[in-house]
Amino acid sequence: MAKISINLATGSLQQEEIIVGIDLGTTNSLVAFINPDKNPQVINDTGKGLLVPSVVHFNAKGDALVGNEAKEFLITDPANTIFSVKRLLGRSYKDVASHQDTFSYKIIDDENDSLVKIKAGDKFYTPIELSAEILKELKARAEHALKTPVNRAVITVPAYFNDSQRQATRDAGRLAGLDVLRIVNEPTAASLAYGLGLDPNQQKTIAVYDLGGGTFDVSVLSIQNGIFEVLSTNGNTFLGGDDFDRSIVHYWIEKNKLDAAALAQDSGLMQSLRLKAEEAKKALSSQNLFNEQIGDIWCTLDKQTFEALIAPKVAETLNSCKQALTDSKLTVAEIDEVVLVGGSTRTPYVKAQVAEFFGRTPHDQINPDEVVALGAAIQADILAGNRSDILLLDVTPLSLGIETMGGLMDVIIPRNAKVPTKAGRQYTTSIDGQVNMKISVFQGERDLVQENRKLAEFDLKGIPAMPAGLPKVDINFMLNADGILTVQAIELRSGVKQEIDITPSYGLSDDTVEKMLIDSITHAKSDVAQRMLIEARSEGEQLAYTAERFIEKHGSFLTAEEIADTKTHIEALKQALAKAEKDEILKKADELNEFTRPFAERVMDVAVSSAMKGKSIDK
Ligand code: ADP
Ligand code: MG
Repeated sequence: MAKISINLATGSLQQEEIIVGIDLGTTNSLVAFINPDKNPQVINDTGKGLLVPSVVHFNAKGDALVGNEAKEFLITDPANTIFSVKRLLGRSYKDVASHQDTFSYKIIDDENDSLVKIKAGDKFYTPIELSAEILKELKARAEHALKTPVNRAVITVPAYFNDSQRQATRDAGRLAGLDVLRIVNEPTAASLAYGLGLDPNQQKTIAVYDLGGGTFDVSVLSIQNGIFEVLSTNGNTFLGGDDFDRSIVHYWIEKNKLDAAALAQDSGLMQSLRLKAEEAKKALSSQNLFNEQIGDIWCTLDKQTFEALIAPKVAETLNSCKQALTDSKLTVAEIDEVVLVGGSTRTPYVKAQVAEFFGRTPHDQINPDEVVALGAAIQADILAGNRSDILLLDVTPLSLGIETMGGLMDVIIPRNAKVPTKAGRQYTTSIDGQVNMKISVFQGERDLVQENRKLAEFDLKGIPAMPAGLPKVDINFMLNADGILTVQAIELRSGVKQEIDITPSYGLSDDTVEKMLIDSITHAKSDVAQRMLIEARSEGEQLAYTAERFIEKHGSFLTAEEIADTKTHIEALKQALAKAEKDEILKKADELNEFTRPFAERVMDVAVSSAMKGKSIDK
């Protein structure tokens, strides 16, 4: 399954690790990979099926059970059986308190932190820990089926997930022992599975309609140069196939004249009814009548009745579609493709309604409950570098900048900037008569260039000799959609110019990016201290240099004593510089500045009056 390649440096065989794509769903989760035929495929661990219900059950000892086996406990042990945990990821108690009644387990408010916890047995779990249990199960199944360790993954999230929900998903992955290479939007993954966005010359607007078990969302995406942009999203996080099931249960309760109040107390029977309703709903996706019994309760449903039951809910989803179009300032006619996602779009009525709304046949060839995982596997394959023809570069993963005085990194294009992009800054020389300027381009987040990745270096030659600080050198960075960075340096007074092209992503794996980011966080404090010292030093050195030049040039304006005292101050500054003590450097620099300021003014006065004289002679 995994690729074997030869490491030319060592001559040894090396196994390339597989990267899986994971759809961590509210109702069901799946893991997919790219098979040896280069096609995405959902991993089927023998006999266990493709979909892993996102359900976790804890027994009395606190051992977790995930998937179909855990789902059984929804009937027998609902209090310790956690479902729909995705709704709680990255959420505060306040966000979900009003929905407590939709959960059969206990969600609690922790006074110390605002994020929710879930009680099972006598233990408390965070949504991150619970999601990690699901991810661990997926990882184990993938390892078992592929017979190889699986340590890296791409995980999908809804397009509307905010930063804290995305971070929580990442954390869950890490907790499950997975290196999460990227968090990808579910609609983006679904589009990829249909091959949309894989052709860099393609420009399309896509609507992705995702009706799952408990949530509905619609996203309008634009794809250009292989870059996905979410134009708008809309939906309802409490609307999905579960609502269809509930409508069916209510219908049966009425038809059988059951006592609803008594039933509400019997959570076991309620769950059985709910599961039967789901069975009926699924059956009606391919037949016209469902007819079964639970004890002496008749569970009968025909297609027409079912469609009437769900019509209001489906209408609601179409309203969201309308709103999403309004928000993206597009009309139905401007949508090029419609993609169906989520198990509930298997219902023919839903498909037909969506087709009618958008006025076109939506993509439904791929199983809607697998399409996101399959797309995630494709994204994983792209990240693994197996599809060099495709570049899914939407933002710059690392900052781009140049080296300035003392080896400091000066960022020109910050990390996460959308491409294509351009930015520039102006620099000058630090030495009188400097005619060359070395421009070193780096990538990374650290304050010192030596800790970052060097991309290129070139000299801007032929700057006319001028006093330090006078030349104006514009440095411009242009990063195009293909990920090529053009660095241009131009001295504005003389027009001398130099330009180079670099590919910053060349040889850069997501692993490296991640490591660089982590390093930058770990070292942030010491980096700042170093930067301050370097800045103080450059400033101090520059000042000592200028002061010495000043005495040389304008010594005639000063008394011998003033010259001697200035030299003492310069000496004190140089000693502080040698000791590399930031505060002392700044103090001595200040003192030198203060001491010499009146001299500078004196020279200025003389210069001005001689200039005036000059003027008057001219007349
Ligand atoms: P999620 O993205 O929320 O994890 P899924 O995409 O797996 O959810 O969709 C789960 C929903 O799809 C459930 O409500 C399930 O009953 C429904 N579903 C699955 N198969 C069918 C089918 N054949 N017909 C209608 N609904 C179905
Ligand atoms: Mg889903």
